Amino acid sequence: MLKAELIERAAQARSAGQMVHSVASTRHLDNCPALVLNADYTPLSYYPLSLWPWQTAIKAVFLERVDIVASYERAVHSPNWQMQLPSVIALRQFVKPSEFPAFTRFNLFLRDRFSCQYCGSPQNLTFDHVIPRRLGGRTSWENVATACAPCNMKKGGRTPKQAKMPLLVEPIRPTNWQLQERGRGFPPGHLHESWRDWLYWDVELEA
Ligand SMILES: [Zn+2]
Repeated sequence: MLKAELIERAAQARSAGQMVHSVASTRHLDNCPALVLNADYTPLSYYPLSLWPWQTAIKAVFLERVDIVASYERAVHSPNWQMQLPSVIALRQFVKPSEFPAFTRFNLFLRDRFSCQYCGSPQNLTFDHVIPRRLGGRTSWENVATACAPCNMKKGGRTPKQAKMPLLVEPIRPTNWQLQERGRGFPPGHLHESWRDWLYWDVELEA
């Protein structure tokens, strides 16, 4: 065999090896978070969904703070051990969940079912201070509503009464339970299949 041919084959073998490697790791480690359940096997939090990066999950396993409920096929190795990455873990000690969700943009959209609270449109959504800030309106659950850009423009710096734009629903501070109920209509994307059982217990009944 010619030397050039040998070099060529060696290069091919190397690139084939690299390809096998990249296929084996298609699920990147960063895409392997663990869903964290409370000791009663309900998610620790829904919004945002309680997810830990794989490093935190594995550390908690070694500290015996959690039990592994389900795992990814993807494993991590060291010379002495190998471990499949946990996809669902449950705390051993029950943590009392808070009653109210965080005041976040996503949670506010979710409370309002991703629709304008003045006209019902699901397009071009933004946030409206019901009592405008210049009139002393606060940035709170009770004074911020989802609004489409046209309604927001139309209302301008006026109250709903001044603008003759009544709200479809009075904004409230939702409980976690209320937000969860809303969330059932808007399941988060990219759920790992091992999570579904823990998030929506009757998902199959309704399907
Ligand atoms: Zn609107």
